[in-house]
Amino acid sequence: MSTTIKEEKETASLLDSTQVVIKEALDKLGYSEEVFELLKEPLRMLTVRIPIKMDDNSTKIFTGYRAQHNDAVGPTKGGIRFHPEVDEEEVKALSMWMSLKCGIVNLPYGGGKGGIICDPRQMSIGELERLSRGYVRAISQIVGPTKDIPAPDVYTNSQIMAWMMDEYSRIREHDSPGFITGKPLVLGGSHGREKATAQGVTICIEEAAKRKGIELKGARIIVQGFGNAGSFLAKFMHDAGAKVIGISDAYGAIYKPEGLDIDYLLDKRDSFGTVTTLFDHTITNQELLEQDCDILVPAAISNQITKENAHLIKAQIVVEAANGPTTLEATKILTERNVLLVPDVLASSGGVTVSYFEWVQNNQGYYWEDEEVQTKLKALLVNSFNQIYEMSETRKVDMRLAAYMVGVRKMAEASIFRGWV
Ligand code: GLU
Repeated sequence: MSTTIKEEKETASLLDSTQVVIKEALDKLGYSEEVFELLKEPLRMLTVRIPIKMDDNSTKIFTGYRAQHNDAVGPTKGGIRFHPEVDEEEVKALSMWMSLKCGIVNLPYGGGKGGIICDPRQMSIGELERLSRGYVRAISQIVGPTKDIPAPDVYTNSQIMAWMMDEYSRIREHDSPGFITGKPLVLGGSHGREKATAQGVTICIEEAAKRKGIELKGARIIVQGFGNAGSFLAKFMHDAGAKVIGISDAYGAIYKPEGLDIDYLLDKRDSFGTVTTLFDHTITNQELLEQDCDILVPAAISNQITKENAHLIKAQIVVEAANGPTTLEATKILTERNVLLVPDVLASSGGVTVSYFEWVQNNQGYYWEDEEVQTKLKALLVNSFNQIYEMSETRKVDMRLAAYMVGVRKMAEASIFRGWV
């Protein structure tokens, strides 16, 4: 599978902290308590049990979820996560983050998210295909190109999207490329989708560096995590002339102040993003975060920068490529220390943005060149970055709260216009 390494479960409190910031954002914008009551949980949450014939002829029952946070703006949109630790609460919180990401980039969607409790690393290709198809059969009533459009997430990839699209097309008895995004190019995928998350992070780094007066050429960067986002990002930064001085995976980290040989590391990395096991001298992920650098990009798992280590971070810019790597207390500490924090809901919105482009191309039946994708992605994300930065300056709030304010506004407004609150 080709998505980010996530060996640990994202904590149960993700939902709590998301609700706290949504409430704060709605209060600041002057919305009523009813609006918060509507938005504090997904509108729909489907739990399914999927019986799958395993290769040894036994039958295993898998549990899956699909959450649809709010569809006032348009159909819901968001990835499907295959992970042994995924649970209902995590899927709910992640669907709310998708709403925020779509709001921030001004996409015509609400947020959705799916998950299946399974360990794809222990399953054969045949078992994975049967599970992917079984999940689509189980959720087919509530999804569709104008209802809820899934996509890849942790440990799911374009092959899985292809099986799911095929299954959905068979159920509906017509070709339905717009049912899912992140497909292979030959099945209606978009140029640039695979590297889109890292491109989005790159654009945020460029904008943040401008605001901080840091020249990207020669800037010292640490990337925690070497999965899909982390590895592409390390490559983009390296190619832009920055010095990538530290990277990590689930097993440890390597740090070299003179700069790492990124092409060598990419070559040696396995499909789950593991590479540090090849080195004798490694440090821990926690130690890596505290090393001297200009820009720090947590691109692995949640709760990495906490009130325990926030004061030890040396970077001037922290860009959250992972979901929830910085706790709310740590956000405060970093902001007080004048560190420019680019929050996850903005920094990781490149993936869903190119997914939107893919869906538009599917609906039109007309496909764009990579250059067109890149130009449009950049225009949208630079605009979102600027809006959030200005919101943070004018309303004197931290970047996370500013991002939530920008992200929640359209959804709240659309819900009111529809007469829901
Ligand atoms: N799973 C990705 C995310 O969390 C992409 C979702 C999508 O492309 O719809 O943003």
